[in-house]
Amino acid sequence: MNSDSTAPVLVWFRDDHRLSDNPALSGAAATGSQVLCFYVLDDASEGIRPLGGAARWWLHGSLKALSEALERAGSSLLVLRGSALGLVDSVVRKTGASAIYWNRRYGAAEIAVDSAIKKRLSDGGTKVHSCSGRLLHEPWEITNQSGKPFQVFTPYLRAVKARSIKPPLPAPRRLEGGVWTPSILNQAAPIAELGLEPTSPDWAGGIWHEWQRGELAAQAKLSHFIETGLKGYAEGRDRPSKAGTSRLSPHLRFGEISPRQVWRSVMNAVAAEPGLERDADKFLSEIVWRDFTHQLLHFHPHLPDRPHSSRFESFPWIEDRLSLKAWQRGRTGYPIVDAGMRQLWQTGWMHNRVRMITASFMVKHLLTDWRQGEAWFWDTLVDADPANNAFSWQWIAGSGPDSAPFHRIFNPVTQGEKFDPEGDYIRTYVPELAQLPRAFIHKPWEAPPAVLRETGVVLGETYPHPIVPHGPARERALKAFRSMRDLT
Ligand code: FAD
Repeated sequence: MNSDSTAPVLVWFRDDHRLSDNPALSGAAATGSQVLCFYVLDDASEGIRPLGGAARWWLHGSLKALSEALERAGSSLLVLRGSALGLVDSVVRKTGASAIYWNRRYGAAEIAVDSAIKKRLSDGGTKVHSCSGRLLHEPWEITNQSGKPFQVFTPYLRAVKARSIKPPLPAPRRLEGGVWTPSILNQAAPIAELGLEPTSPDWAGGIWHEWQRGELAAQAKLSHFIETGLKGYAEGRDRPSKAGTSRLSPHLRFGEISPRQVWRSVMNAVAAEPGLERDADKFLSEIVWRDFTHQLLHFHPHLPDRPHSSRFESFPWIEDRLSLKAWQRGRTGYPIVDAGMRQLWQTGWMHNRVRMITASFMVKHLLTDWRQGEAWFWDTLVDADPANNAFSWQWIAGSGPDSAPFHRIFNPVTQGEKFDPEGDYIRTYVPELAQLPRAFIHKPWEAPPAVLRETGVVLGETYPHPIVPHGPARERALKAFRSMRDLT
């Protein structure tokens, strides 16, 4: 153990890329010792899921912004690549650090890595402080009356509302930065050399256009949402053509802002402007959904790769590569599905309502295993999140804890008409249909030939025919569901 009072302390950053409301960083700063900060791109530990392409793009900018912010505060960020177990151990030994601070993670593989590191370091006399920085409450803090974790959201939400939320911490005023020894610097991997942003081909053009990464951008996004989007959120959140939601998801995913900061800012806005309560309540319940999915992931580590309800192990999924490809590329012939899939491909994000419609279409109309959709979203979403993504896909498939029932099968035409009544969302992402009148924009196959001609739409050429007819696809899905039930 290093009892030297001049020994530095370490902060290991992991999806908590911010200086404010960062309990690990604040804890380290409060020691008054030199604070050495590092990040590990762990692409070698067993079970750690590699990030998808869009999330890697985000990570690049997020680390850059974090590194710059730490430098402004008097410290710096060392980036390493490899297996965390060996690397963290080596950093502790080479710096002679007396303690290490981190914020907790909730995936099974991450917990295994952290537990192994904690044991090894504690046995060697290094103090390990694991802090609570990612959620409003730790998964084990919100339980039912028997002390068990909730499986259903509504009572979970009620339990959260009965408790107070800790106020967020300010960023440490100044960090006492230290100097890394050459032997560690030799191991460092500069951010630019991690290969996180695509080069050839650079497919990220639309994503660049849409997003600013980092803590300052996250805070600006939150302020903008509170000023312009919170009022009316309860209804506006279901209109994909409008900027009716916060778009904070990738910032929350990478911890550029904390849920406690979001909570506090929204509550301050409500205090300043009575009348916002209903919208704020709806918005904050979405933040609680995020805690809920993390709680489920913590207690059900197989959420991303196995149906929670074991009956679904026997579901007769169909493997149809062509249909899957048509779905991925936004070429299903259903405009609302195609608009969603193209928004995802172009911008790395998709509106929540449309995520539900596209996911339901893939699972129920195409009878494709939800894990295929989960994997595609994992690769293409900038906010791809192990808990939110897995839970949401199982919710749609009907196999998760607290899911939508399988027989709720969205009709992509009526969903489009309901949530994009003017067709503006379709016109943005499916430009080949932009000239179609409102009456046919969600069902171009019903447009009279003269209308198609005038608007330049040639079905089967400029835009596909529906790859499956809705009615028979619905019947097929219900039959498949019943066959699974028969097997149990
Ligand atoms: P807002 O409406 O402004 O909500 C604020 C925040 O609350 C979000 O940023 C998010 O952190 C949280 N939130 C909102 N809705 C949900 C929800 N249903 N479940 C859990 N948390 C929620 N969200 C992700 O963050 N990552 C994912 O990988 C992801 N995959 C999804 C896959 C499917 C099939 C579906 C149906 C939903 C998925 N969601 C995912 C949930 C939701 O669609 C997004 O969180 C939301 O669209 C993000 O936009 P926003 O930040 O503007 O949301």
